[in-house]
Amino acid sequence: MKFHDLVQYFERLEKTTKRLEMFDILAEMFRKADADEVDKIIYLSQGQLLPSFRGVEIGMSEKLLIRALSGAAGREVGKVAAVYKESGDLGLTAYKLLADRGTGPSVQTVYEGLFQLSRLTGEGSVDKKVALLCEQLSDVSREEAKYLSRFVAGRLRLGVGDATVLEALALAKINREFRVELERAYNICSDLGLVARTLFREGEEGIRGMAIRVGYPIRMALCERLSTAEEIVEKIGRCAVEVKYDGFRCQVHKDGDRIDIFSRNLERTTPMFPEIVEATRRQFKAQAAIFEGEAVAYNEATGELFPFQITIQRKRKHGVEEMARDFPLKFYAFDLLFANGDDWTPRGYRERRAELGRLLKKDTVMEFSQAIETEDPKELQRFFTSAVERGLEGMVAKRLDAPYSAGARNFNWIKLKRSYKGELSDTLDLVVAGYFAGKGHRAQFGIGTVLGAVYDPDSDTFKTVSKVGSGFTEEELVRLKEMLDAVSVPHPPARVESLMIPDVWVDPKYVLTVTADEITRSPSHTAGKIGDEPGYALRFPRTVGFIRPDKRPEDATTVKEIIELFEMQKRVKLK
Ligand code: ATP
Repeated sequence: MKFHDLVQYFERLEKTTKRLEMFDILAEMFRKADADEVDKIIYLSQGQLLPSFRGVEIGMSEKLLIRALSGAAGREVGKVAAVYKESGDLGLTAYKLLADRGTGPSVQTVYEGLFQLSRLTGEGSVDKKVALLCEQLSDVSREEAKYLSRFVAGRLRLGVGDATVLEALALAKINREFRVELERAYNICSDLGLVARTLFREGEEGIRGMAIRVGYPIRMALCERLSTAEEIVEKIGRCAVEVKYDGFRCQVHKDGDRIDIFSRNLERTTPMFPEIVEATRRQFKAQAAIFEGEAVAYNEATGELFPFQITIQRKRKHGVEEMARDFPLKFYAFDLLFANGDDWTPRGYRERRAELGRLLKKDTVMEFSQAIETEDPKELQRFFTSAVERGLEGMVAKRLDAPYSAGARNFNWIKLKRSYKGELSDTLDLVVAGYFAGKGHRAQFGIGTVLGAVYDPDSDTFKTVSKVGSGFTEEELVRLKEMLDAVSVPHPPARVESLMIPDVWVDPKYVLTVTADEITRSPSHTAGKIGDEPGYALRFPRTVGFIRPDKRPEDATTVKEIIELFEMQKRVKLK
C-alpha cells in the first residue's frame, strides 16, 4: 500500500464521529493491505511504531521537528515556528509550508524511515535525526507530510481502539464471529500487529495455534465484586482468600538472565523496579517463566506497607535509585502463568499456586502473597477484618479450580475492599472525555469539572457517567488542563457517547480514580441508558489521587460494573 492511500484512510477516520463508520473504514483498509504491511498499518494508525510494551519511541521534540520542517520547506526556523504558533498543529504547519512533491513512498518505506529515527541515539544523534526526517518530509506530498509530522510529534489521534481493530480484522478476513478467536490471541500477546500478521499469513489455524511467549505481556485477569463474605461463599464455595495489596501490579517475564516487568496497562516498567529484576534472578528457580505479583513500597523500620500513591512515585523515570533507597519494595507473588515451556494458565488456581510456591525461593524482596483456604463466611470475614485493620486494601477470593482468565474480569477472582459509611464499596476508574471551563474561583484555571466516562467493551465505546470537580488540588487542576489541552479534539471523539457537551472534548486517554456516595439513575448520562430509560450517574463524585498512569482507557470501569455496583448498593440498603 502506498503511504498516500493510508493517509486517505487516516483522513476519513479523523473526520468520523461515528464508531460504526470507523469500523467500516478500518475493514476496507485491511482488505487493501497485504501480509507484510498490515502490522505496520495497525501500529501507525494507533500512533505507534510497535506496541507500547516494546518501549520504542521516536524521541523527537517539537523543536527538532520544527528544524526538520524548516529544512524540508526551505524556510527559516522562525517562520515555521510562527506558522505553528498560529495553528497549534505541526501537521497543518507542514501542510501549509511544504511543496507537493515526492515519489509516493510505500507504507513500508515510510515505516522503516520512522523506525530508523527511533534507533538513532547517543552523541550526534540529534542532528542525524533532523536530517533524516527532513529527507523523509521532502519525499512526500503535503497531505502525507501532515500525518507524518503529527505522528512524529505524538499527535496522531485517530481514536482507533484495540477492540475495534480486532472486529474490523475479523470482518475483513474471516467473519465477524471470528473476533472471539482474535481476542483470545490478543489476550495472550497484547500485540495487535502480531495477531494481524498471523491472521494474514496463516489464517484461522495460525490464530488458533497462537501460544504464550515470554516477553509478550499477557492481558491481566481482573476481579469481580461482591459485597459480603456470605455472598462470596455462596457464589464460589470453598475458596482461597488472599490479601489485596494496594500496590503496583507487575507481570514478570524471565528468560534466562533477561527479565522484563509489565504493568497493568502492559507497558514495560522494568527500569522502575531494579530490585524485582535482581530478586527474580536470585529467587525464581525456573529458566523461563511468567508470574505475577504486587509491588508495594514499605517502611523498612516498621515493616508497614505504604499506599499505592507512594509506590507509584517510581513511575518517574528519574530518581529510581533514591526511591529504591527511601522506599524499598516488597513483591508479593500471587500467580504463575508460564514455566519452563509449560502454559499454566489453563490449570486450576490451586495447582498454579502450588507450583509457584515450589519455584519461588523465599527471601527479602519476594514473598508469597498471604492466603488461607476456607468455606466458612465467618473465617473469610475475620481474614478481611484483620487485613483492613493492618491498613491493607481488603481481600481477593479466588475460585480454587479456576484457570487464569487472560484479559477478563469474572467471578474467578472476587474482591472485597474496605469502604467507609455512605460511600460506594469500591472506587471507580473514569476516562476523561472532556472538560468544562470553571466558574467562580475555578474560572482562573480555565477548568472546573471533567466529564467522566466508563467503558463499554461490547461496542468499544465510552459512555458518560459523571461530571467530576472535587478532589483536585489547584496545582493538579493546572496540570490537568495542560494534559487535556494536548489531547483536545474539535468534535466529539468517535468512541465517546455523550448527551452533555463539554467546553472542550478530549481524546479518551486519561483515567482518573474517583469515589462517590452512591450510584443513581439519571437521564443526563449515557452509561447504561437504553432507549428512553435513564442511564446511571454518580452522586458526589470526588477524585482519589491524580491520573492513573498504569491504566489505559479500556481498563476503566465498565458499564456492566456500574450496573452491578448499583444492584449491590440496593441489596446493602435492604439489609
Ligand atoms: P484497583 O483499582 O482496586 O487496583 P483494578 O481495577 O486495577 O483495581 P481489580 O480487578 O479491581 O483491578 O483488582 C485486581 C487488582 O488488585 C490487581 O490488578 C492487583 O493489582 C491487585 N491485587 C492486590 N493483591 C492481589 C492479590 N492477592 N491477587 C490479585 N490481585 C491483587
